[in-house]
Amino acid sequence: MKVSAETSQSELLEKDRRFVWHPYTQMLSAPPPLPIVRGTGALLVDDQGNTYIDAVSSWWVNIHGHSHPYIAKKIAQQATTLEHVIFAGFTHPPAVALAERLIDHLPDPLSKVFYSDNGSTAVEIAIKMAIQYYHNRDQPKKKLIALDQAFHGETFGAMSASGDLSLNNAFKNQLFEVARIPAPLKGKEAESEKVLEQLLQEGDAYAFIFEPLIMGAGGMLMYEPAILDKLIRLCQKHGVLTIADEVMTGFGRTGQLFAIQHLATCPDLICLAKGLTGGVLPLAVTCCTDKIYEAFLSEDKGKTFFHGHSFTANPLGCAAALASLDLLEGAECQENISRVVRRQRAFREKMEGHAAVKDIRQTGTILALEFNSPEKTSYFNQLRDQLYQFFLDRRILLRPLGNVIYFMPPYCISDKEMTEVYQAIEDALVHFNL
Ligand code: PMP
Repeated sequence: MKVSAETSQSELLEKDRRFVWHPYTQMLSAPPPLPIVRGTGALLVDDQGNTYIDAVSSWWVNIHGHSHPYIAKKIAQQATTLEHVIFAGFTHPPAVALAERLIDHLPDPLSKVFYSDNGSTAVEIAIKMAIQYYHNRDQPKKKLIALDQAFHGETFGAMSASGDLSLNNAFKNQLFEVARIPAPLKGKEAESEKVLEQLLQEGDAYAFIFEPLIMGAGGMLMYEPAILDKLIRLCQKHGVLTIADEVMTGFGRTGQLFAIQHLATCPDLICLAKGLTGGVLPLAVTCCTDKIYEAFLSEDKGKTFFHGHSFTANPLGCAAALASLDLLEGAECQENISRVVRRQRAFREKMEGHAAVKDIRQTGTILALEFNSPEKTSYFNQLRDQLYQFFLDRRILLRPLGNVIYFMPPYCISDKEMTEVYQAIEDALVHFNL
């Protein structure tokens, strides 16, 4: 029988096991996946009618809640008007409107939008633009500088730029070389600055890439805008381009629309994805300055940026992004962001000094609690799997990163739902005797 909405759970799971390979999942030992049939607000609904609070915004993408009727309506209108068209040699209103609107929101030097369809490719594009910028000016350079513990995605350039993650062991010998500096975390600022300065003095660097203020997959590590300003200024002094990977931090997560709005400086390139469409459709952008764009303008066709994906600037994705921006700019969403920030702060203050808590940190709407773990902090931490199941049993979707539990909800989450999540975290600390 073909799978439909009426397919029984056991049959669905049997077919899932036979035909599907899930991401970040050890298919030999992982428990069967949860069949989700519906989403509304911050809730996911399974085929038995159970609801789960989506406390990780479904891999950090969702900002307005699931199946938002306004975004759905705008996508439907676009789907019956123009679903897709090649973006080389052609253009369309949603892509132009979205580019203009993003540029309006971004700091002044950022003036051009290049479309793609996921965070990794947005990063890949930024790195390629930076390399080719120098190549086109006949000053080829070889070195990319990145932070220890960084995460930039899963394509080869993005994996190379990412820190030494055990996840990438199989590919280690195939990645290109990247110079690393310590992340400028509290107490490490001076060292980070010093190592960057040394690398810049050695020359040959084309860019410095970083996740501004919050390093997500590396463990929700946080650092201050002031030190990032210093690092960016150093790069500017040495004529090295800077790339802000805002794939996770973009669209309100830090309390501002973009994390770089906390800075006094502005990077040369910024990568956006995840929340761009409200987390509804895959779409990404890499924005750059006129200075970079102009280095590709030439009578010599070899200086063209030869990069483009089949679904570049997909009109449905652009329509979803425009609708998401309508909501994001609205008073209701802005109030929700402020409310989430306030609630997260109150919980952080409550938990500071708790015996089980090694560190609790917050930037804007994102809260991360690092607990004292008997095991080494890593993605393969055993306790992580037990915690994940503990929260699921409580009907909460939280995916700890090693011994870091983080809470990154859609902004529409209710106060009651937030309280449930906080209670579950406190209960987990007791349950696991942390
Ligand atoms: N950059 C950062 C900072 C990310 O957090 C991620 C994904 N978690 C990526 C890039 C890659 O994005 P995607 O999964 O859409 O390829």
